[in-house]
Amino acid sequence: MLIVPEREIADLMTRQAAFDAVEKVFAAMASGDAYNFPVVREAIGHEDALYGFKGGFDRAGLTLGLKAGGYWPNNLEKRGLINHQSTVFLFDPDTGKPSAMVGGNLLTALRTAAASSVSIKHLARADATVIGMIGAGHQAAFQLRAALEQRKFEKVIGWNYHPEMLPNIEKVANEAGVPFEAVELDGMSEADVIISITSAFAPSLMAEHVGPGTHVACMGTDTKGKQEVEAALLVKATVFTDEVAQSVTIGEAQHAVAQGLIKESDVAQLGAVINGTNPGRTSGDQITLFDGTGVGLQDLAVAASVVDLAVQKGIAIKVDF
Ligand code: NAD
Repeated sequence: MLIVPEREIADLMTRQAAFDAVEKVFAAMASGDAYNFPVVREAIGHEDALYGFKGGFDRAGLTLGLKAGGYWPNNLEKRGLINHQSTVFLFDPDTGKPSAMVGGNLLTALRTAAASSVSIKHLARADATVIGMIGAGHQAAFQLRAALEQRKFEKVIGWNYHPEMLPNIEKVANEAGVPFEAVELDGMSEADVIISITSAFAPSLMAEHVGPGTHVACMGTDTKGKQEVEAALLVKATVFTDEVAQSVTIGEAQHAVAQGLIKESDVAQLGAVINGTNPGRTSGDQITLFDGTGVGLQDLAVAASVVDLAVQKGIAIKVDF
């Protein structure tokens, strides 16, 4: 069995490798070659922690395994550790023997950023120049860094519920040499692409804030009750997702579906666009929306990729198990 510790991931994994792994596995999901197992998520009654498993099997990529982990809210204050903790375990699909154990913390941010990037590549207008960010927390910086590589963006605009956090994304824009401007939510109508990545339980982005032709990636809503955008926006938009079952239950589409504004059949898999079985964007003034709920197969795909890189570089730790 191979071990790739968390401390090695930053030097091994590239944004391009994460993008390629996620794009490929979304395609495999849409063609029926890969599927996610039901998610387990439990409040364990200790340290206020939420713990669970996200697993799946990709028959095309021969990737089998799970990500185990969750959220320990007291970690930072009590122990100086980050609150989100996860580890990916990969298994040999031929034998069931464990093949790798991989640090999953940084990989989670990279695979989540890769998902919105894949959606931008396939759904945003080719001539998009302004990107809008809603959210300025841990994930937002990763999201923006990856998204800036997808189009020739000339300007970043940002809004955050806690405005004092905006420098987190301004720094990313500056590093990429793209000007940054803080705006009010109605200023988002200037954006050609909007990424929303917050932990909100009530919508910030309203349908009236989104101009024609915009691509919106909703990346923060991954739990029942969370919501980032007005349900009416999903009526105006053509809606895509990583996994339909998650989108309508724990993703952004849960609200529009529960209110009867859209049906489950109105939500399409992004993988189908990648495969060419769904046309994706069909006009310049269409609003497209990607509901990125986060699936276990994304974690397995980037973990398998990082194991390959670790083996190539002689960094993977081999243990008899
Ligand atoms: P964080 O705590 O670092 O940042 C939270 C962000 O949400 C900040 O921008 C904060 O200002 C904003 N926010 C908080 N309360 C708000 C409110 N009431 N209204 C509007 N904005 C509010 O968190 P993070 O690590 O950046 O994660 C952000 C979200 O992304 C979380 O909900 C997390 O569960 C989710 N997430 C999703 C995936 C996925 O695959 N889709 C993966 C990882 C994280």
